Amino acid sequence: MKSILDSLKDANPRPLWHDADIMPEPLPPLSQDTHCELLIVGGGFTGLWAALQAKERRPEVDILLIEQTFIGDGASGRCGGFLNTSLAHGETNTEYQFPGEADKIEALGVQNMLEFIQTLERYQIDARYEQVGAMEVALDKDAKQRLYQLYKSCKRDGDDVVWFDTNAVREQVNSPAFYAGLWYRDGLDGVIDPARLCWGLKETLIKLGVRIYESTKLQSLQSLNKKSMKAVCGQAEIHADKVLLATNAFPAVLGKIKRSIIPVWDYQIATEPLTEEQLNAIGWHKTRHALSDFNNMFHYFRLTKDNRITWGGGGAVRYYFNNGTDKKYEHAPERYEQLAEEFFHTFPQLKGIRFSNKWGGIIATSSRFCMVPGTAYGGRVAWAVGYTGHGVGASRFGARIAIELLGYQPSDILKMQFVRKKAMPWAPEPLRWIGVKLTQSALVKADKNGGKRGLWLKLLDKMNLGFTC
Ligand SMILES: Cc1cc2nc3c(=O)[nH]c(=O)nc-3n(C[C@H](O)[C@H](O)[C@H](O)COP(=O)(O)OP(=O)(O)OC[C@H]3O[C@@H](n4cnc5c(N)ncnc54)[C@H](O)[C@@H]3O)c2cc1C
Repeated sequence: MKSILDSLKDANPRPLWHDADIMPEPLPPLSQDTHCELLIVGGGFTGLWAALQAKERRPEVDILLIEQTFIGDGASGRCGGFLNTSLAHGETNTEYQFPGEADKIEALGVQNMLEFIQTLERYQIDARYEQVGAMEVALDKDAKQRLYQLYKSCKRDGDDVVWFDTNAVREQVNSPAFYAGLWYRDGLDGVIDPARLCWGLKETLIKLGVRIYESTKLQSLQSLNKKSMKAVCGQAEIHADKVLLATNAFPAVLGKIKRSIIPVWDYQIATEPLTEEQLNAIGWHKTRHALSDFNNMFHYFRLTKDNRITWGGGGAVRYYFNNGTDKKYEHAPERYEQLAEEFFHTFPQLKGIRFSNKWGGIIATSSRFCMVPGTAYGGRVAWAVGYTGHGVGASRFGARIAIELLGYQPSDILKMQFVRKKAMPWAPEPLRWIGVKLTQSALVKADKNGGKRGLWLKLLDKMNLGFTC
């Protein structure tokens, strides 16, 4: 235990990505009343991508974006940076939730990813994108068998996947905890530096004429008349023709959003840069795949450009009673200790390495485990929230849906169930808390029990509420 505590002793309690050397000066808050055509609330990926796509579709549109703290302070600047093509949280969930639309959703996901990367090139945004692909690793013999079944089914579907048996996977990434690996070789999946993406988008938007105000919190929203919405932010009021709410897991101003998502805290730690010797001890630097383990309560881990390892997820995720989003939950020492312990179990060769950063962030979890779009006030207000831990790529698509719902070049995708189907609302407290706790412990039990899903998970599966990606 002492070595765990030592490894975390000097860790900076802020996201690794919030590097003071590159963090832009925050913009001043809104201090006087104003008007705009499109008001965007929230300076994470959804809000930023929405502003950019609206500008690209209609360059003359007058957009104002407000952020309650600073751009990239939400999940977007705190996430793992795993960039994934999937829009609806994996194939199984897509089939469950939107029967018959899987192929179309997959094609839209690929298109979204291509446009994502082209946008980085077009505006020269250095988000440190690395097209390293993703690999899932099995942590025991049962998981190995299940992962192998998945490999065979991917092969049947014509996916470009590679199977690594125990010795082979350890040649890829040397961990005594790994029994097998499934590498998704095709596609554009990879990793980015998420805060650099936020700040690159912010700089681009400013150049395109979007007005951005930081430290400006939306407090209430109401209809002023048939054409205009009134947004109150501290001393200032904004009159807007249209409003896009991109507030994700944070307390929402509309009940419809509040009921559709719950905030779940996820924690991460990051090591100091690995030395040549440490890199050689694990061998991962040759392939640099983005890794996750094949569990319900899975860890996700990756290398950064300067060869640190970021490590998050696992049993450290938490839902706090009554939708807790308070800053006090941002740091949870016992979560960091748990993460560090699991890290050293996976990479015992790195004993002695120190963690440079530790932090938490909030995931907006919807009952369908993927983005939930919606509208209110006769279509003058729209939103896309609830990506459930899979939002780095999907938020660009969520942003597209939200602007189309507001009338900016609507397309056929608005007819899809993916957009039209309502997400089941979460139960009220205390049922919500009890349900999440029960599910979490059932998932942990299933992980320890060769993946066998108990009665509770089977019941949820029947209702399409079981978490299986
Ligand atoms: C720890 C962690 C790890 C993750 N890892 C990954 C990953 O590796 N890959 C992946 O695909 N996804 C991951 N995710 C999920 C992904 O980060 C999110 O889905 C995505 O960033 C959501 O973007 P967003 O803009 O909708 O929300 P956010 O980034 O949360 O942005 C919402 C913004 O709205 C602002 N806001 C809220 N209320 C108001 C208000 N009233 N007035 C003004 N502003 C307001 C907030 O301050 C915030 O900046 C992770 C999430 C977390 C927390």
